[in-house]
Order: sequence, then C-alpha cells, then structure tokens
Amino acid sequence: MPHSVIPIGHVRSCFKEKFAIPRQPQLAPAATGVLELLPPFDTGEAVEGLEQVSHVWLIFLFHQALEDRPRLKVRPPRLGGNRSLGVFATRATHRPNGIGQSAVKLEKVEPGRLWLSGIDLLDGTPVIDIKPYVPYADIVADAHNAIADAPPAPISVHWSDEALRQAHEHALRLGQPVRELIEQCLAQDPRPAYQKPPPERRYGVRLWDLDVHWHYPADGEIRVLDLARGEG
Ligand code: SAM
Repeated sequence: MPHSVIPIGHVRSCFKEKFAIPRQPQLAPAATGVLELLPPFDTGEAVEGLEQVSHVWLIFLFHQALEDRPRLKVRPPRLGGNRSLGVFATRATHRPNGIGQSAVKLEKVEPGRLWLSGIDLLDGTPVIDIKPYVPYADIVADAHNAIADAPPAPISVHWSDEALRQAHEHALRLGQPVRELIEQCLAQDPRPAYQKPPPERRYGVRLWDLDVHWHYPADGEIRVLDLARGEG
C-alpha cells in the first residue's frame, strides 16, 4: 500500500555539508539547530505541552541520500568502509524509504520553532514527525549491540593561536559555542578510515558560515589551522 509523507518542517543546522557530522546524535552537544515548522503546524497548537519534555525523537528524511533502488547490503564507515552488512543491521543513510531517527535535546519551544542541540542532521533536512522521548520506555538498560558497542574513541584536537582567536571572535558574532562544536566534531575524526594523509594535506568543512581547516600533524592528532567566514 503506497503511502506518501510530507515534511512537517525543516532543520536549520550548523552542518552545511555531510562531512564531519557526527554519526549519531548526542556526540556533539554543541551542535545546534532550529526546526522550523511548516503550516499548519507552525501556530503553536501542535507543540503545546512539549515544553515539559527534555528530548525529542526526530523522524526525518535523509534527503541527500535518497535512491531509487533499495540496497540490501551497505558498508558502514564505522567498520572502515570495507565490510558489508545487511542494511537493517546498520543506521546507514542509504536505506529503503530514506528515513532517519535521532533523539536530540530540546532547548526551547516557540510557536513554529523548536531549538535543538546534540543534532546529527544536515542543514535543510526535512522532518516528517516529532515524538517526545519517553525515558522509561526508550532507555533499554540491558540492550547491547556488538557492531556499535561504544562511541568512536576521541582523538586529540589542538589549535593554532590564530584559529583559537578566530573561534572566539566568531563565537561572539554567531552566539554559538564554535570552539566546542569544532572540537567535538573533529575529535571523532571525520576522515574516511582508510585515509592516512601526509601532514601537509589540509582538510576543510563548513560549519555555520565558517570554513574550518585542519590537518593531521601526527597519527591520531588533529590541529585546527584556521577558520574564516566563507562566501555564499
Ligand atoms: N541518527 C540517525 C539515524 O540513526 O537514523 C542518523 C544516523 S546517520 C549514520 C548520520 C549521518 O547522516 C551523519 O553523519 C550525516 O553524514 C548524515 N546525514 C545527516 N543528515 C542527512 C541528510 N539530510 N541527508 C543525507 N545524509 C544526512
């Protein structure tokens, strides 16, 4: 029985590209965004009572990973990209119907707007439903998952003096925890597992309106080189 779904809103997120987004929510508490609700959900009625809730489940579309032909096997980056698993054993973005789910912190509720943190969502992500997190039902004390048994081990993030100064300056301008956001995202090492770059190779990503650059001076170590307001 085909059934169509329509977005109830879109997330305006700190993440302007897929690279360096944490693999799951809560891994970067400084990652914030706003869910802007669409009519008829934007009047306040649909979110009445939600201010009593600390976290919500967002059900959304992986709009930048939608495909016509469903995949049965995927290669999760977590396993280095060279081992394949059944799609339903993973939280891969390429999946039937392209539906994702994230439990995120609800910072503030306004008519038509939800302020969120700890997100793992790309800017512009269409949200198709919101549900309150229910701790007594959603926390499964004896749950286990041998494929993903712990968050990625963090690697150490260092800063050039210039980058640190820029982070402070842009944090004030944006009213956002820029330094924490960069550290929390880069500590999870966004580069593909198979890449062993030479120290001169620069990596970059857009967070908010900032182009952030870093390199790997030694194995297991990141140094933030600079960040500047990008164009566009
Ligand atoms: N927590 C969700 C889940 O389990 O369904 C998402 C997990 S998925 C492994 C997280 C990755 O999805 C992020 O690292 C980011 O690269 C990617 N992503 C986030 N929003 C997306 C979007 N709208 N379209 C495509 N990919 C997206």
